[in-house]
Amino acid sequence: MALLINDACTACDACKPVCPNEAISVGDPIYVIDPLKCTECVGAKDEPQCKLVCPVDCIVKNPDYDETPEQLQEKYAALRG
Ligand code: SF4
Ligand code: SF4
Repeated sequence: MALLINDACTACDACKPVCPNEAISVGDPIYVIDPLKCTECVGAKDEPQCKLVCPVDCIVKNPDYDETPEQLQEKYAALRG
């Protein structure tokens, strides 16, 4: 399941540099996660790095991207080419 940044985002920029998939971009007014690139950090890290650093806990599951751990692993492999 990809993750989603909700309206509580303060655009602090903590999350963008820690994403191993470069899935986070600067939006207006809040930051945005590309669901086609977010693997919940599966493949790269033990847990979602963006959630670890977000000071306002505004990163949640994206209900439109219901993926299994296996699908997330495949997505990561595809992103790596
Ligand atoms: Fe990037 Fe991982 Fe956060 Fe997804 S969960 S946006 S891959 S840091
Ligand atoms: Fe927004 Fe949280 Fe990312 Fe900061 S770390 S830009 S508050 S989502």
